[in-house]
Amino acid sequence: MAEIEREAMEYDVVIVGAGPAGLSAAIRLKQLNADLDVVVLEKGSEVGAHILSGAVLDPCGLDKLIPDWKEKGAPLNVEVKEDNFYMLGEAGEIRIPNFPMPPLMNNHGNYIVSMANVCRWMAEQAEELGVEIFPGMACSELVYGEAGTIKGVVAGVFGLEEDGSYGSNTEPGMELHGKYVFLSEGVRGSLAKEVIERYGLSDGKEPQKFGLGMKEIWEIDPAKHKEGTVTHTMGWPLGGNAGGGSFIYHLENNQVYVGFVVHLNYKNPHLFPYMEFQRFKHHPMVAELLEGGKRVAYGARAISEGGYQSMPQMVAPGVALLGCSVGMVNVPRIKGNHNAMLSGIAAAEAAHKALEEGRSSDELHEYEQEVRKGDIGKDLKKVRNVKPMWSKWGMLPSLALGGLDMWCNTLFGISPFGTLKHGKNDAASTELAASHKPIDYPKPDGKLSFDRLTNVSFAMTNHEESQPCHLQLKDVNIPIMTNLPMYAEPAQRYCPAGVYEVVEEEGKDPRFVVNFQNCVHCKTCDIKDPSQNINWVTPQGGDGPNYPNM
Ligand SMILES: Cc1cc2nc3c(=O)[nH]c(=O)nc-3n(C[C@H](O)[C@H](O)[C@H](O)COP(=O)(O)OP(=O)(O)OC[C@H]3O[C@@H](n4cnc5c(N)ncnc54)[C@H](O)[C@@H]3O)c2cc1C
Repeated sequence: MAEIEREAMEYDVVIVGAGPAGLSAAIRLKQLNADLDVVVLEKGSEVGAHILSGAVLDPCGLDKLIPDWKEKGAPLNVEVKEDNFYMLGEAGEIRIPNFPMPPLMNNHGNYIVSMANVCRWMAEQAEELGVEIFPGMACSELVYGEAGTIKGVVAGVFGLEEDGSYGSNTEPGMELHGKYVFLSEGVRGSLAKEVIERYGLSDGKEPQKFGLGMKEIWEIDPAKHKEGTVTHTMGWPLGGNAGGGSFIYHLENNQVYVGFVVHLNYKNPHLFPYMEFQRFKHHPMVAELLEGGKRVAYGARAISEGGYQSMPQMVAPGVALLGCSVGMVNVPRIKGNHNAMLSGIAAAEAAHKALEEGRSSDELHEYEQEVRKGDIGKDLKKVRNVKPMWSKWGMLPSLALGGLDMWCNTLFGISPFGTLKHGKNDAASTELAASHKPIDYPKPDGKLSFDRLTNVSFAMTNHEESQPCHLQLKDVNIPIMTNLPMYAEPAQRYCPAGVYEVVEEEGKDPRFVVNFQNCVHCKTCDIKDPSQNINWVTPQGGDGPNYPNM
């Protein structure tokens, strides 16, 4: 194949991903030096289109970045007024009082927000400072410089032939070169994954852990709506089958975020996370709230859960990993946006200092130091044992011991347990289908619960069909030859968008079908496939979900 010729543009800092981490970095760079050339590239059709967070936002990151955010009209309109935590059984619930919870679990002073809208507002602030933001530009490749540095990315490749080759209608995109490249792609970033592998950044660290978060927006009866109320639940329907739980946040305009997280280290390959979420809405407490309302949006995204002990090294020559590309979610608080913002600020400050000193394309160790020892590290260190306790001992013991551990960390700065290990990665946690019972899920009723494909239409996802499938199978035989007999091919169930199907027709061999058009970019397949056979790469820019105010 002939060498592909691309135009190149030179910047001081190239930022991949317009989430809270990338946008914070862009804003801080321009606050520090208005003359810096900074570009942000986003694969969504617009900023916010691929952002899916709960979200209860701890404003500490925004306070540091734009202290007068209120005067500047940031869309943080709903302060948390009430914070409830329930343990669910099939027919009822027990409220866990707030007083035994460590202070870090308190949501007062936090805001219920649409992070998609917060990111849209942050993008406006960045553009006012002179940052160039290009939505609809997926970064599909890294550009390597001499001596193994990363000098940029390829963005904006459109119109590839179905087999991945260049045709007469292919636009080759461009190379964007930076003295530093920031990867702020969020959880399981495709370029970040390449960097982590290539430079061995996870060597000696615990494996990263993940959950699958699914979320619907509901418009409910105004009489039942309690603006500012935050509710979390554990227990039913997952019980002992998997870790996880739900969130219900009452935002503005009689809307409610209803979300459900399933930890991806579950063992039983028959588990169907999407159907667990649908079943959850039939719990009497939840059904009572939603009855008479309507679901107006749906989406899904993986959430990083490994925390402090799973953070890889964050820098390599010319590149820094930000936010959830590293994995900065505080698991018991289910919050990562504040740390994503703080990491963006820290990376910007380190790059600015380096540029002032005339450096470029080296390792920004000052950034990594700040993350590990500064506010992010402190936030994550206190809660580092909650996830491994849950994985090892289950929900109830980990509630008690995790609470004790968080109190010890908060009061004395130490843990009686030291730092617990996570052990296996989530793919390796999957056990053989034969050693588990299939789970019988009730059919969705079309009122409170919906079938997967109907719900996916509420993610407004769209992919140009003639492009290559962005869900690459390393070995096309594995789904049917290995995963089906051993694990009942769990891709059929773990994907919250119904991308993967095993089609069995009489007299024919079973076929594995990948409906990549449905993909909502959650990255669960890249994480959970027990054979680690699926590689999620970015499709062309502008494709994927189009979330309104997730
Ligand atoms: C269901 C759920 C609920 C959550 N609830 C909360 C909560 O209530 N509070 C809270 O604080 N946190 C919450 N989180 C965690 C929070 O969402 C993350 O910590 C946060 O999004 C991390 O920010 P980020 O900027 O690192 O990545 P993201 O917010 O994921 O942003 C990454 C951006 O990069 C873009 N991108 C990715 N790859 C490329 C590429 N190759 N080229 C171009 N663009 C690319 C993406 O489209 C996206 O816009 C929740 C997460 C989930 C899944």
